[in-house]
Amino acid sequence: MITAVLGGGQLARMLALAGAPLGLRTRFLDPSPDAVAGHVAERITAHYDDERALQQLAEGASVCTFEFENVPVAATEWLTAHATVRPHPRALAIGQDRWAEKTMFRRLGIGTAKTAPAATVTELHQAVHEVGAPCIVKTRRLGYDGRGQVRLRDPRDTAAIERAFAELTAGNDGGLVVEALVPFDRELSVLAVRSTTGETACYPLVQNEHEGGILRRSRAPAPGLTDDVQRRAERLATAVLQELDYVGVLAIELFEVGGTLLANEMAPRVHNSGHWTIEGAVCSQFENHLRAVHGLPLGDPSMAGGGVATMVNLIGAMPAREHLLKLPGVHLHDYGKAARPGRKLGHATVVGSDRDEVDALAARALG
Ligand code: AMP
Repeated sequence: MITAVLGGGQLARMLALAGAPLGLRTRFLDPSPDAVAGHVAERITAHYDDERALQQLAEGASVCTFEFENVPVAATEWLTAHATVRPHPRALAIGQDRWAEKTMFRRLGIGTAKTAPAATVTELHQAVHEVGAPCIVKTRRLGYDGRGQVRLRDPRDTAAIERAFAELTAGNDGGLVVEALVPFDRELSVLAVRSTTGETACYPLVQNEHEGGILRRSRAPAPGLTDDVQRRAERLATAVLQELDYVGVLAIELFEVGGTLLANEMAPRVHNSGHWTIEGAVCSQFENHLRAVHGLPLGDPSMAGGGVATMVNLIGAMPAREHLLKLPGVHLHDYGKAARPGRKLGHATVVGSDRDEVDALAARALG
């Protein structure tokens, strides 16, 4: 059986690696001839709107899926007419639009930061006034890893509002959203999966730390996680999965603030904060995504081994392989990418039974 994937970055690469033992082959389409999934999967180099390439991608594939949320929705809609696409393009469309996401969360009774949309500079002034300061102005679309965001401290600083509008709308006509700045205690993410028969499973909540807007460290289960918080996160994730009649893995980024969970955004795909599941869970997020989209039974999302896992991203430059491989119990994932500042080049995961020891070893993996 063949899995067709739109996008050929490290997520597609890890999907391909997870598929191999299940007898699943992977074919992917990516505009870049250097897309790193090409080291382990069948490559098609073409733009996402190239219908002949999309046809080639879907040819003989059991299912088509996607590995990042900025794939054009039109490509998934085109594929839907020729093949099975999971998750549904509607989940992708909502995942690309911060305002649509927030509106859906609120309709489902899921808390979010106070948010208002703005398409013009006048609307931005109104939205900042309505939300209050401090706040964050974000592009509605195509923002990731903290890009496309400006923080505002003073709602009366009209010059700062105008500068934010000019900066964020240059070359981007997708509109903006203004969000109240959440004084969160910590950032968490919930990864959940739903099968074609409506079965759902949820991984233990993950605590995430960012540096310069980029995920640096994920720890699972989130330190001090209570059953109550886990259950609340599972309930909100399941509500989204059901609302979207979703099939596959979905990640929702959360803020924990004073014991309350607020949803920040969702990713309709496997997610960086779930990479620890490769060694740290009984069934990884990649395998579970493949199981789901191929209509197979879901795997067990619970912690494997000693019950504690930490993943660190290797960003900008790879530590020496000799250094990493000398550390006992460190699992190295080198994506085979060219080094560039701010680029996720790989990750390392440590699994064990003692939180402090696991964290200390993961810190040593950073070099
Ligand atoms: P995002 O692109 O929405 O994931 O934002 C990137 C990072 O910016 C998040 O992981 C948070 O650390 C921070 N952030 C985003 N939105 C907010 C908010 N409304 N309040 C506080 N911090 C935020």
